[in-house]
Amino acid sequence: MRNDVIEQELLDILECPLCAKALVADKNELICVNDECRHRFSIIDGIPIMMPEYLKDDLRISQEKWDEEYTTYHQLQQIDLASDLELKDTLIEIKKSIKDRKGFFLEAGCGPSKVSCSMSKEGTRTVGLDFSLKALRISKALFEREGVKGHFVCGDISKMPFKKNTFSFIYTGGVIEHFKDTQFAVDELWRCLKSEGITWNTVPYLSLSVIYRVLLWGNIPDIPLIKQVVEFIEITLLKKKFMRFGYEKSFTQMKMEKIFRKSGFTMVNIGFFKTYYPLAWVKSVFLKNLLTKIADTRLFWPMIYILAKK
Ligand SMILES: [Zn+2]
Repeated sequence: MRNDVIEQELLDILECPLCAKALVADKNELICVNDECRHRFSIIDGIPIMMPEYLKDDLRISQEKWDEEYTTYHQLQQIDLASDLELKDTLIEIKKSIKDRKGFFLEAGCGPSKVSCSMSKEGTRTVGLDFSLKALRISKALFEREGVKGHFVCGDISKMPFKKNTFSFIYTGGVIEHFKDTQFAVDELWRCLKSEGITWNTVPYLSLSVIYRVLLWGNIPDIPLIKQVVEFIEITLLKKKFMRFGYEKSFTQMKMEKIFRKSGFTMVNIGFFKTYYPLAWVKSVFLKNLLTKIADTRLFWPMIYILAKK
């Protein structure tokens, strides 16, 4: 059956996130072929909406906050791929580790899809997954502006609407820290990667820099007891008011290694992700340089990368 609403190439890699069975396209919907499920997912502007109806609490907090972010702070006009220094550093790392350029590249938690747009420009077939439709609309507009093609899906990373063994490469930038059950999210990366597929991820690092994140946006240090105390203060007492990026944790290197190994990754390589931080609130150049220097010392590293192979 031919349809003009969604491309066959995308339909071929999608599955029902509720029962893991195939889908067929019908007008503006995707329908699960499983007779016991028959769930219908709508397609808006070519983007299949595959979010589970009932969102877990951590996801709901994050979705609300990110929709707000994309309405207030992120606009297409502000995206300049050529001058984005964090994007440049990310692309250097991805290109170092990408092996199969012909396979599908997934940016999970893509936001405005700056990374996949840059990869698309070099001929890679990309898919962007995000739970914010607002973010995906910005993504689509960015791809159009830059004259490249890509696929977009609205869905949950801890329950990805993709078939197993689909992607050659999965990139997540500041994403897996937004789940209470981190293991579940990393297991999904493993499931959707092809054998020998690579994933490159960044997460906030549990160094002294965590104090800054706790105070500024309600980040949660992933240490037993402290985690429960901070969660109680931020969610129950402060009613999520200060959780600017939704539910978000900081991890030790050991914890990340443990989680990725448990998912089944054979090679796990973790290190400092050295990149540019805008530090927009710091007016003095001297102070900005000083803070950048401090962030380079391990005791204060803000972010780490996890490179892993299935
Ligand atoms: Zn189903």
